[in-house]
Amino acid sequence: MNPQIADRDLTLEEIKKFLERDYDMLKNVVEITFTGGEPFMRDDFGEMLEIFHGFFPNASFWIVTNGTLTTRIEEVVSRIVKIHRKIGISISIDGREETHDKIRGIKGTYKKAVQTIKKMAILREKYPWLNITIGSVLLPLNIKDFPFIYKLSKDFNVDFTFQPLHLNPVFYKHPLNTQETLGKYLIGEEKLRKLKDFLEIYMQEIFSRYKLAAFPHLYYYDNMFRIVLGERCRTLNCFAGISAFHLGSNGDIYPCHILNKKMGNIREKSLKEIWRSEEAKNIRGEIAKRSCICWTVHEIYRSMEENFIHLLIFSIRHVLKNKLNLRT
Ligand code: SF4
Repeated sequence: MNPQIADRDLTLEEIKKFLERDYDMLKNVVEITFTGGEPFMRDDFGEMLEIFHGFFPNASFWIVTNGTLTTRIEEVVSRIVKIHRKIGISISIDGREETHDKIRGIKGTYKKAVQTIKKMAILREKYPWLNITIGSVLLPLNIKDFPFIYKLSKDFNVDFTFQPLHLNPVFYKHPLNTQETLGKYLIGEEKLRKLKDFLEIYMQEIFSRYKLAAFPHLYYYDNMFRIVLGERCRTLNCFAGISAFHLGSNGDIYPCHILNKKMGNIREKSLKEIWRSEEAKNIRGEIAKRSCICWTVHEIYRSMEENFIHLLIFSIRHVLKNKLNLRT
């Protein structure tokens, strides 16, 4: 590949060509997450969403943002929500104002993110299918603020999700995730134990709100807590690189956004060639051996669908536990 374009972001034209060329392989895509960096930094992000809508009118779109570019976010989401009905936006809140700004390293970012949530909530009055979520990452600095963030989500009547910090070699050049780096060793056991009371209330409220549809969420948080405490290993086989992939801004294809194993680049090869390549086969082999670990929202929910039996057993145990007061 020409080194001058190797690291350059894909243009809209290149994205369109990729989707046309590889549509045969992509036509059954059910969910697309747009993340960054910060996706709204791209001036043409609105146009990009419209291109994806043209190819995948029925897929769920998730946009993950730090919420700082309020005006642009409002403008782009107002445009896409009119034409695309399965759409959600996840705005990151890391804690109270002071904690959030400290973690983000810039004063004023909390206020901007909250302003964006307000704007999205107003937009939702007109387009009720717009799903709004506050997303957080468990860090040593913000664990005490989780009840506050949860309350904030209730005040705005939006969802709240959180996940452990993933050391991400693709974006942050960190080493590979391991069981050790996911929780106890990174955050401290004492702090994590304090989270337990909050988590119990949170899970009960999820159950009363979603009823049977709550089980995937309960499974996600119950296992996450045990994993970050080091009490349990990852329970599910991972299907990254089989039923999903991560497309980097320069066209690189990875199995997911965490594992730093490049399968190929769409500027050089078609997706079919990349998917059937030796590199891809070897990477899938390594993932199958569970040589990497993560518990990230998007991947785990997909893996739950593929490992449905785990979820079913968990759900039955949960019902029995609540009826008979048994331990899971
Ligand atoms: S377990 Fe799966 S999603 Fe997680 S880092 Fe490994 S390949 Fe990626």
